[in-house]
Amino acid sequence: MKENGDIATNDCLACGSTCLNVVGQAGDHEYRSTREQYSFLSCQSCGTLKIVPFPGHAVIAAAYPSDYYSFHLSANFAKYEKSFWGNRYYSKLRTALSEEIQSRAADLGKQRPNDLFVLDYGAGDGFRLKMLAEMGFNKEHLTAYEPSLPQGLSMSESFETLIGQDFLRQTDKQFDLIYASHVIEHLEDPSILLQDSLRVMKENSILVIDMPVPEGVHFNLTRHHHWGGYHAPRHLNILSVKGLESLAPRNNMTIVSVQYLDDSWIMAQTVNSMIEDQAIRILPKFFRNAFAVTTKEKPTLEREVLYGFLSFLSKLQRVFDHKSSVARITLQKR
Ligand SMILES: [Zn+2]
Repeated sequence: MKENGDIATNDCLACGSTCLNVVGQAGDHEYRSTREQYSFLSCQSCGTLKIVPFPGHAVIAAAYPSDYYSFHLSANFAKYEKSFWGNRYYSKLRTALSEEIQSRAADLGKQRPNDLFVLDYGAGDGFRLKMLAEMGFNKEHLTAYEPSLPQGLSMSESFETLIGQDFLRQTDKQFDLIYASHVIEHLEDPSILLQDSLRVMKENSILVIDMPVPEGVHFNLTRHHHWGGYHAPRHLNILSVKGLESLAPRNNMTIVSVQYLDDSWIMAQTVNSMIEDQAIRILPKFFRNAFAVTTKEKPTLEREVLYGFLSFLSKLQRVFDHKSSVARITLQKR
């Protein structure tokens, strides 16, 4: 097991290059799990970022407290349904997921989305599959895999759940569609996600990776300190699209499409980092709740206004720069 500062290699884990330069520094302004500041090295060949020093396993464990947002999404959404803004937010998410899965089913030649066997890799509390189950999706076809759900927290029991690092390696199930939404950047070795997926993919199946990418205007303007995609010390390797293009074939996968998505929620964390910085108190206190993370996150009018504005900025960025800080990459077996 590695300890703080004991980093085995400074090679880029995406493309193997040894030429990396410091581009920014960040600490944990969101959960304050550590006072350390970490540097991020950028690969000069593919642009992938790497945190240094490696935070160590004790620091990483402490960085996922029981109020970490992804362990409470289902519970939060249950609360959202009781409010106007919450309902609006939740129904937008459900519509997007429904449209996404219908188009994936069509791509895979399935008559109905219900025919797909779906794995959510790094499922948090299983909120994505819970939404699918609520939409009438065949629960027998849904599997949630979470390598590290903290003790005392549980997942919805309406579908199969695999918890713990070795479970996916033991299952003999095969899937049509694997979602790995904002997982790869949390892994000490990003190739593990591709290798795990390959083991449980059918011949004609797809892996969909959503991930922050160190690309575009938003990243370039804020990379020195405040970029919301750093999420230190949890994001260990932040791949660029070029980095994943290099990693995929070495793991017998090929990229079939790349989309740059709305990165308004990363922009919100960028602004949150600026606000938390004592030197730049740019917003009055009452507005800061709109940026709240953890279980304090609440859908409110001010949050709706903020995200509406940031989504507009994100769209402008994608129109003029064709990039953003979030990419959705679809891969198949080679
Ligand atoms: Zn690289």
